[in-house]
Amino acid sequence: MIVAEQKSLDEIKKLVGSAQKVLVVGCGTCVTVCFAGGAREAAIVAAELRMSTKLDGSPKEVTDVTVQRQCEWEYLDEIAPKLGQVDIILSLGCGVGVQAIAEHFPSTWVVPGLNTKFMGLPTEQGVWAERCAACGDCILGITGGICPIARCSKSLLNGPCGGMNNGKCEISPDIECAWVKIYQRLEKKGKLDKFEKIHEAKDYSKHTKPGLYEGEKYAKMRNKNK
Ligand code: SF4
Ligand code: SF4
Repeated sequence: MIVAEQKSLDEIKKLVGSAQKVLVVGCGTCVTVCFAGGAREAAIVAAELRMSTKLDGSPKEVTDVTVQRQCEWEYLDEIAPKLGQVDIILSLGCGVGVQAIAEHFPSTWVVPGLNTKFMGLPTEQGVWAERCAACGDCILGITGGICPIARCSKSLLNGPCGGMNNGKCEISPDIECAWVKIYQRLEKKGKLDKFEKIHEAKDYSKHTKPGLYEGEKYAKMRNKNK
């Protein structure tokens, strides 16, 4: 899932600026799970913004709504009737959600209320860890299901580097060295031959920006309908 954290109220207020009528839009998918931008957080941010701007002596009209997913056009349509009554949208979706709103409603100014951090998973209650950097050329099949791109501090394709210390990364003793974990996993599975191979530089041409993916089945359907 996509993991994000809320911006500070001060930053949000700066982004909202002088706009008077603010619609806070939450997202009911990934950012709900990481407690950054779901319905509950949208209501809290709206209340904080109302109270804080009132205390500043320039109260704003702040309402909130949460859609199931900000990253799909059809879910955004439900906020369309509200747009005539607001000056600005504060999106509590990930960066994709913010851009989906900006593209779908080009005449409405939208600002982000979150910092989108990474794709990760919960490792314990309330803690999420990065697991994939969407490199476009997955090598988990040769690294025992542990991603060195996302989990090694230097995204090394061969490791561990000389800075590894007792299984920890030189960047911080709190970070486990991804390459030690890869070694241990391959050893356990009797696949150390994979570790002994030098992995060549990845084909980063598969990671050019902006990324675009056209699903084969959809392409066939589209061509059929032409
Ligand atoms: S190798 Fe690339 S696609 Fe696979 S998990 Fe790592 S970053 Fe993601
Ligand atoms: S110590 Fe391990 S995780 Fe840290 S940069 Fe070196 S290889 Fe990567």
